[in-house]
Amino acid sequence: MKALQYRSVGAAPEVVEIPRPSPGPGQILLRVLAAGVCHSDFVVMGMPADQVGFPLPLTLGHEGVGEVAELGAGVGTVRVGDKVAVYGPWGCGVCAKCAVGAENYCLRAHELGIFPPGLGAPGAIAEYMLVDDARHLVPVDDLDPVQAVPLTDAGLTPYHAIKHSLPKLVPGSTAIVIGAGGLGHVAIQLLRQLSPARVIALDVSAEKRALAKEVGAHEAIESDDKAAAKIRELTSGRMAEAVFDFVGAPPTVAIAGACAAVEADVTLVGIGGGTLPVGFGALPYEVSVTAPYWGSRAELIEVFDLARSGAVSVHTETYSLDDAPQAYKRLHDGAVRGRAVILPNGQAG
Ligand code: NAD
Ligand code: ZN
Ligand code: ZN
Repeated sequence: MKALQYRSVGAAPEVVEIPRPSPGPGQILLRVLAAGVCHSDFVVMGMPADQVGFPLPLTLGHEGVGEVAELGAGVGTVRVGDKVAVYGPWGCGVCAKCAVGAENYCLRAHELGIFPPGLGAPGAIAEYMLVDDARHLVPVDDLDPVQAVPLTDAGLTPYHAIKHSLPKLVPGSTAIVIGAGGLGHVAIQLLRQLSPARVIALDVSAEKRALAKEVGAHEAIESDDKAAAKIRELTSGRMAEAVFDFVGAPPTVAIAGACAAVEADVTLVGIGGGTLPVGFGALPYEVSVTAPYWGSRAELIEVFDLARSGAVSVHTETYSLDDAPQAYKRLHDGAVRGRAVILPNGQAG
């Protein structure tokens, strides 16, 4: 079968022919209908050899939707032909965090060498993929695979972050979204659906600012050193009760801190190497700064239910598996509007 692999440190991903895997006991083989391309893959592909904690080559793709093709021994909760999405942050399934569905914070994944697909285990940008346990599958039912696939990360990650801050997003409050890309353009929609807050988006790209407005941002402003002053003006000095940074680079993290209101939540989602000092006087009183990772299984089910109600519409561009390297190049160049989705078996249906 064909797969997109990151084969050696520093090299661009390439389409290769590899053997089609067979499901072992408890495993499920999916025929992949759609796989999303996330900016985090550049973080993985940018790591020096001594930081890559898993063997290469690695089949990329940590957002996957497929059709159950084959069941390993003992799998009884899904059937061949079911359309399912993969819950990506795989954990042990047994520890206290996994017990409440928060496998993204599994206490034993590292120790047991459990990696998410596409981030250590073979991923979704392939004709077929293995899923380690039926617990990591969520029914897609009537959702379009191309719409559903980005929800497993570009939807779930902002949903988890936003849900945490909902108590602060009361009428009259302001939420800031920095970076209106794959995650950010979904975050704007989630904020509009789940809260009465005024949403202000920031991006360096005029096209992404236009997308932000299109998907519901009340304002979209340039992300530069004047952004905090502009937000002060737009909020009559009150600033923002919640700031979500989907870039996480030193300049955006600085903006995130500078536009926080007293008692605000600042959530650093982007993996851009920025850090925000916390200490008396460094930020307004009682600001909370967090850097979350992905979301829980229960939250993924909630995101899908929200999408079924028509509340979220992901902007996508689709590519064949042969053209997957081009999708990565466009994402790298900031040219993707919304999420790039690979269709490894042709049109997803
Ligand atoms: P993307 O490339 O689709 O979007 C990034 C957006 O940020 C683009 O619109 C770009 O124009 C904009 N941008 C770049 N520099 C900017 C700046 N200085 N100010 C404002 N906007 C700027 O990326 P994505 O797939 O949406 O991922 C976003 C970030 O979130 C990445 O860092 C990714 O690694 C990270 N991520 C984190 C988690 C997590 O669990 N914490 C999960 C998924 C993705
Ligand atoms: Zn991701
Ligand atoms: Zn666990």
